[in-house]
Amino acid sequence: MTFDQLHQLYHLPLFDLLRRARDVHEAHWPADEVQLCTLLSIKTGGCSEDCSYCAQSARYQTGVDAGRLMACEAVMERARAARASGSTRFCMGAAWKGVRSGTRKFDEVLEIVRGVSKLGMEVCVTLGELGADEAHQLREAGVTAYNHNIDTSPEHYPNIVSSHTFDDRLQTIRHVQQAGMSVCCGGIVGLGETVDDRLRMLEVLCGFNPAPESVPINSLMPMPGTPLEGAAPVEVFDLVRLIAVARIALPKAKVRLSAGRTQLTEEGQTLCFFAGANSIFYGDKLLTASNPQAEQDLRLLQRLGMTPQRPDPAQAPPPADPARPLGPCGLAPAVATADAGAGAGERGERSVAAAS
Ligand code: SF4
Repeated sequence: MTFDQLHQLYHLPLFDLLRRARDVHEAHWPADEVQLCTLLSIKTGGCSEDCSYCAQSARYQTGVDAGRLMACEAVMERARAARASGSTRFCMGAAWKGVRSGTRKFDEVLEIVRGVSKLGMEVCVTLGELGADEAHQLREAGVTAYNHNIDTSPEHYPNIVSSHTFDDRLQTIRHVQQAGMSVCCGGIVGLGETVDDRLRMLEVLCGFNPAPESVPINSLMPMPGTPLEGAAPVEVFDLVRLIAVARIALPKAKVRLSAGRTQLTEEGQTLCFFAGANSIFYGDKLLTASNPQAEQDLRLLQRLGMTPQRPDPAQAPPPADPARPLGPCGLAPAVATADAGAGAGERGERSVAAAS
């Protein structure tokens, strides 16, 4: 979908938008299923990068200490516990700029992946930048999906991160696609961006070929000590609209209601599910932020008549559309409309300071 199409959808009367999103959702997904994913930080803090929202950057005084990579058996214990509590996807995150083949830390990660992949859950990792070789090794070791978010629009991105570029991110995503892993890629709302920035982010995701297998939509949880600690919260209806547009634009992707669920009421979360969110992080801790308690989540899902999705560890990544060029190829598409240009002015007024 183009920016114009996304823009038109987003600004429909809410009930029209929800009706369309629901129709698309039910045409592609079991209506009442939700994927339960557990996220574990296998290496916390001390990251060299300057992502303005992140408590794990070593550049900010956030109180998050730099930890070491967890031992394989300790990760396995957590993965087994996640499986026992009903999780079907185990996502492991490490606070690094990236990983390089032939290093000890990468070998240790591969060992962890090999172990977790034997548990019958889908295995997702997020380790920062990857080259083609690293991506192939992760795939061989048993990774189902690689998470690498684009965070926001290409235009707003330099206000948020300066230590690596938007195109660096696209390049990693391309390596993941070429290695035959599913791409898990979305962004964060609440970074001082405009609605147009959020739609531009979706436009970039729509340009991926193969399409992303899952699209996490995170709401910023402002972290004390980061440049975005004072960022304004995102309105629930804005979040619902974005999820609905993502559902229509990327019908076969799981849309994950990710960080920020603790800021939503159960009614707000329910609207997000109705709009097309069909995946959540499950468990009481995200990388460094809190998450609703697992029992609380299960109670809510039960009250809504929703059931956990079964795992599909052998899933193939979404196929590429042969009629379109493969992408991303390292370049973000150009701004499509005058509306996006108008958004840039608004962006100027509302932008956050770039990290130093
Ligand atoms: S988001 Fe990732 S790359 Fe950026 S500072 Fe945090 S851990 Fe590092």
